[in-house]
Amino acid sequence: MIFMEPPFTLELIAPCGMNCGICKNYLAFSHGLPKGKGQPSHCSGCRPRNKNCAFIKRNCIKVAQQQVQFCYECQGMPCEKLSKLDSGYQKRYHMSMVENLKDIKNRGINAFLEAQQARYRCPNCGDVVSVHDRKCYACGKVAQL
Ligand SMILES: [Zn+2]
Repeated sequence: MIFMEPPFTLELIAPCGMNCGICKNYLAFSHGLPKGKGQPSHCSGCRPRNKNCAFIKRNCIKVAQQQVQFCYECQGMPCEKLSKLDSGYQKRYHMSMVENLKDIKNRGINAFLEAQQARYRCPNCGDVVSVHDRKCYACGKVAQL
């Protein structure tokens, strides 16, 4: 077993609870995939890119102005916008931002990052499997999550 750096960091967890490290657009970027037609677009992550959230910021002044680090700090969590995003992700990708946020709040960011690493580890090479297409962008294997 080759020792690998932990793939996820606090910087990769967006305010909405999304782990940018399992997004196919981030994995295409971090693995230097060719850009172009039929290829996923490249993204360096919500926080690294603009220090807030691509989904929520237009609808939420607290996220846009960085008054909160994570949406769980907001009393109204989940707001309508986050609920909509969350239910879409639960249906399509079997992942919940709201559950992620509760986990970060209850167990802390380090336990959350470790659990994410275990959940999305590629069974073939130990890299990361994307939540969007269950594909490992290091070895190309498509895994069941
Ligand atoms: Zn792999």
